[in-house]
Amino acid sequence: MHAQPWKTADRDSEMAPMTRGAIGAALSLLLAAAAWAADGRTALTPGWNMFSPQQDIEVGQQVSMDAERQLPMLENARVDDYVNALGRRLAAKAPGEKYPYRFKVVNDRAINAFALPGGPIYINRGVIDAADSESQLAGVIAHETAHVALRHGTNQASKASAAQVPLAILGGILGSTSTTAMLAQLGGSFAVNSVLLKYSRTAETQADVMGTQILYDSGFDPRAMGQFFEKIEEQQKGSGPVEFFSNHPSPDNRIERVNQEVSALGGSRGARTSAREFGDIKRYLQSLAGPPATDRRRAGDDRGQPAAGTAPDRPSGRFVSVNNALLRISHPDNWQAHGQGDAMTIAPRGGLIADGQGHQALAWGVIVNIFEPRATSYAQRLQGAGYEQGSRQDSAAVGRLEHSTDQLVQELRLSNRGMRVIRYGEAIGVDGDSALSTYLSNDSPGGGRETDWLVTLERPDGLLFFVFTAPERDFQRYEGAFHEMLRSVRIKR
Ligand SMILES: [Zn+2]
Repeated sequence: MHAQPWKTADRDSEMAPMTRGAIGAALSLLLAAAAWAADGRTALTPGWNMFSPQQDIEVGQQVSMDAERQLPMLENARVDDYVNALGRRLAAKAPGEKYPYRFKVVNDRAINAFALPGGPIYINRGVIDAADSESQLAGVIAHETAHVALRHGTNQASKASAAQVPLAILGGILGSTSTTAMLAQLGGSFAVNSVLLKYSRTAETQADVMGTQILYDSGFDPRAMGQFFEKIEEQQKGSGPVEFFSNHPSPDNRIERVNQEVSALGGSRGARTSAREFGDIKRYLQSLAGPPATDRRRAGDDRGQPAAGTAPDRPSGRFVSVNNALLRISHPDNWQAHGQGDAMTIAPRGGLIADGQGHQALAWGVIVNIFEPRATSYAQRLQGAGYEQGSRQDSAAVGRLEHSTDQLVQELRLSNRGMRVIRYGEAIGVDGDSALSTYLSNDSPGGGRETDWLVTLERPDGLLFFVFTAPERDFQRYEGAFHEMLRSVRIKR
């Protein structure tokens, strides 16, 4: 992450990037609304997408080849056959397009699972270990199956792409039939933080609801998925972050929403209990060797490229606080705060890397700063993009925050050419104020890719922003510390 001091007041706005406000307006017209179907269940259909279902399949196939090269696949026929049979039984009940679903087990003890567009689904052995019953394992598989059926990967990619590509170019992409060209546009290769796998909370709720329906229709206890998520969330409180929630962020009221759907379906009826086969597989799995201890390849490694610099020590669990003119924030006590005025960089030793041009670039750590957006009014820009003000339901304040964040992202991209949006602004809170959370992918100064978590909020003197940065393959390990830091923020008012 390069974040040289910048001036923006006099910069031309020649690029006229499409504002998120405009996109929001476009998408709200195109997104299919959820409705109540006749039998009481929530009807869900895939949202706006610039890919065709056939292209979902092609994208998924290409990316799965990458994924299987990078991930420590279990490659055990007995376990794969069992999970694949279970998965197919569930996928048979997935509504919509009939994708070629297939299921494989990854030799990784972390609790995680993910789905690629058009059918490939991967379950870590850690999920089977953590599940108390076959229904709970089925719950995770049903949730992933729903992501495929609802086309969340390419929907997310479409939105991210529309958000950063001017309309004219977007038109060209929409007209293109080359999946390879589309993949190149999206950043191509598989990574665990890639745009295809980072879901929004809305997508999570949809996958929960449809996953519950799939469980019910396949004869499993429909409460099992919610129960499993509840269980691993509980576990997270004790033993630290569970990987699953990094790509599948917990929506608010998750369990209540699932229970509501269970009631709409008619409750949990006499569900199947084929505990024996599940128990056998679980015991058999425990007898199998763990993942290779050395060079444990992780999702997100860049095709065997060398590590980005030497990784600093892990963030300490003890936090100390630091003040500047704007705020107070706590950070791990083995990190150091540098900076002057409004700008602050907090990084572990080794977190800053010389970029060869006399600048230091941040590879691990946090940047805090103020950005002064251009004075153009939000209303003018909406009209310029061809949208009437008021076509958006969100308040003007939210529009302003999104608009300023758009400008900041454009600004950051000027000094970070490889930067792309992974997940667009979601509303969060920082010290009681509304803020926007955006995920970016960028070239890491030490090689490979990095993930940048950008958090923005409005202050009287400009847009206050935080950029939490770590190489892609390390990001999940730093995420807990980043969240802790953000929670600690107290703004001086
Ligand atoms: Zn999910």
